[in-house]
Amino acid sequence: MQKQIYLDHAATTPVHPRVLEAMLPFFTEKFGNASSIYSMARDSRKALDEARDTVAEVLSCKPTELIFTSGGSESDNTAIKGSAFANKSAGNHIITSSIEHHAVLHTCQFLEKFGFEVTYLPVDRYGLVDPAEVEKAITDRTVLVTIMLANNEVGTVEPLREISRITRAKGVTLHTDAVQAAGALDLSVDKLGVDMLSLSGHKFYGPKGVGLLYVRRGVPFLPQQQGGGQERNRRAGTENVAGIAGFAEALKLASENMQSTNEHCVRLRDRLIKGVLERIDHVSLNGHPSERLPNNVNLAFEYVEGESILLNLDMLGIAASSGSACTSSSLEPSHVLTAMGVSVEVAHGSLRMTLGTDNSEEDIDYVISVLPGIIEKLRALSPLVAKP
Ligand SMILES: *Cc1c(COP(=O)(O)O)cnc(C)c1O
Repeated sequence: MQKQIYLDHAATTPVHPRVLEAMLPFFTEKFGNASSIYSMARDSRKALDEARDTVAEVLSCKPTELIFTSGGSESDNTAIKGSAFANKSAGNHIITSSIEHHAVLHTCQFLEKFGFEVTYLPVDRYGLVDPAEVEKAITDRTVLVTIMLANNEVGTVEPLREISRITRAKGVTLHTDAVQAAGALDLSVDKLGVDMLSLSGHKFYGPKGVGLLYVRRGVPFLPQQQGGGQERNRRAGTENVAGIAGFAEALKLASENMQSTNEHCVRLRDRLIKGVLERIDHVSLNGHPSERLPNNVNLAFEYVEGESILLNLDMLGIAASSGSACTSSSLEPSHVLTAMGVSVEVAHGSLRMTLGTDNSEEDIDYVISVLPGIIEKLRALSPLVAKP
């Protein structure tokens, strides 16, 4: 069988063997409902408590400030709606950026139907939000600022600390979607200065369908899922014990190995970028040259369609993405690239390759060796604009 090279770690990651091992007992002998009182249930309860303690250590917060959810999308929805509705009497204004994940953007658009007003801040050509713009946008009706820690398409890392100094001074709640940052950046909520933070297990070698929302003690929050009293009455539903145990183990591993993982990814990332820029003309790097995630490579190839590059790579066993997985089935250009001022044609020729612990230098060299041929072939066929 042909070798498979997976370069789409921003879309999802495989479960680490130690994570799987941590989860298995809770599908079999330790299947008790954590809310029951017999000893088998106590094993489940204990696993939840331990997971919460582990995660609290990584985030430098209190275990009681953590709510386990079904993933990044639920965490973003719950943070934004939960804080908007809790603050309804204080104000109706929300500030976000135009390059957020759809779990944030579409939630904000949903709230606009219920009387909330949303400011979608612009970004510069590198995808950076300007903290001064956040400050200017805050009014006495502003109840929430939600800005991602790192962008999932172009990997740009946002100046959250500077933004938090502003929201703190103005007394406005700050939420961050840190889904792409886990395992790559410091998640200490006090250092970041955030009041709410979202994570998703499957982005850092944990299981799919389990996420986390941090809510700082005292921050106004209205639970968005009603039912039983789980998660201290903030998120009803029988706990996903196996998923939560796996999430905690994955986050612990990711944080313990952060430095070596980042060094590995940066080495591969820079080799890939350099190799492509040296061998192919009319290509540029999307996103910030230095303020970017260690594992993100996003390149814009002029005169070609990103989709065609993907199909050709796939035939050679290479899995990558054009922009974000959520938009790859539509013909709309990426909202992130468009907001950065990248032209529609160039945005259509963009290719995202996101690296992981399982990638090697040989993988990168293979991609560098096949990509020039693919681009040359596609450009020769291209009906798009004048030929280079
Ligand atoms: C993947 C992702 C999400 C959604 O997480 P799910 O667990 O897949 O729902 C949200 N925000 C960002 C930045 C992401 O990359």
